[in-house]
Amino acid sequence: MAKEAASRTGTIPPSLITVANEWVRAYRAVNLASGFPEFPVEESIKEKVRELVTGDINQYSLVAGALSLRDALAEKLSAFNGIKADAGKEITITCGTAEALFIALFSLVNPGDEVIIFEPSFESYVPDVIMAGGVPRLVRLTPPSWDMDRARLKSLFNNRTKAVIVNTPHNPTGKVFTRDELLFIGELCARWGAFVITDEIYEYITYEGNRHVSMASLPGMGELTVTTGGLGKTFNCTGWRLGYAVAPESITASMRKVHTYVTVCAPSPLQEAGAHALKLPESYIENLRLLYHRHRDLLCTVLAGAGFIPFKPQGAYYVMADFTPLGFHDDMECAHYLAKEIGVGAVPERAFCAEGSPSGTTLRFCFCKKEETLMKAGERLKKLAEGRRGGI
Ligand code: PMP
Repeated sequence: MAKEAASRTGTIPPSLITVANEWVRAYRAVNLASGFPEFPVEESIKEKVRELVTGDINQYSLVAGALSLRDALAEKLSAFNGIKADAGKEITITCGTAEALFIALFSLVNPGDEVIIFEPSFESYVPDVIMAGGVPRLVRLTPPSWDMDRARLKSLFNNRTKAVIVNTPHNPTGKVFTRDELLFIGELCARWGAFVITDEIYEYITYEGNRHVSMASLPGMGELTVTTGGLGKTFNCTGWRLGYAVAPESITASMRKVHTYVTVCAPSPLQEAGAHALKLPESYIENLRLLYHRHRDLLCTVLAGAGFIPFKPQGAYYVMADFTPLGFHDDMECAHYLAKEIGVGAVPERAFCAEGSPSGTTLRFCFCKKEETLMKAGERLKKLAEGRRGGI
């Protein structure tokens, strides 16, 4: 009889976003669960890809990534993020932000090292830390403003603390960490010799006065920060798997080793097209912000009308909405009911929480969808308010 799968996989929690997506498929629900944009890639970027593939840019790129993309990133990092990075020694192109986060943790964490994570959090952080042999330590963000508990954060630091993961703008809550909050986290890291791993994939998607601040741009933090991000959300190409990690030279050298043996490189023609995308006029980003601002307000109105309490996000393209006014007590139960009986897919809060954490009273809804998709969800959600009034 064959032996079993490695025991380390048993400690990795299953993905509840995948479960929510299965409900969407099974019940033909409107998909406000998956966080991918329902918009096309800009035409000139697609044209560039066609040209590159036809021109036979189809072999492996340099392991560190195509130089054109690293150069374009160095320029953008300087102009938008306030980070001076050497494209030769400090920038690595990866298969998505997901790989950038993985190689960062794999390169920094020794068995038993602790990594602080804000909860709720994007679902790969806890499994990545576990796969790297580390121990996740959790700090809760609490609605409605998703403030971080500074005293709790401070109390978690000790000699085993190796890193803090900071995702801003934040998935799922839409929190945009302020400069003051980042300075507080940065000072603690500097005091304990810990790193910050940032996930800045939603850096361009912010609303009203909220502006994205990069940890590595703060005084002294460049040496202690691995900045990760990607092009998928900004340019509607999540399937192209374009991400990057920016770190001091010695950390970059370690990350490139892991990257080499896991993926070798991201798709070459898409990397070159990514360099083109980063040079689109600024109006591209302005339009993206305006579109998502409109869709945020539309979805919040729809959710409030259906009886939820939506927490208006400061950035990214998700709304967390409290379901308790509708009489639900459990996030899995509520998300399942919504998909099956109402025909709208959303993700239960516990998908973003570690096992054993208190289960929350919110669902996450995506608004990176076409207006007609949001309207269709709105139509269906009317049934929810009616049904609950009728005692369903
Ligand atoms: N980080 C966050 C916060 C995300 O929301 C996502 C995707 N939903 C990722 C990382 C993964 O990004 P990528 O597709 O570039 O791997």
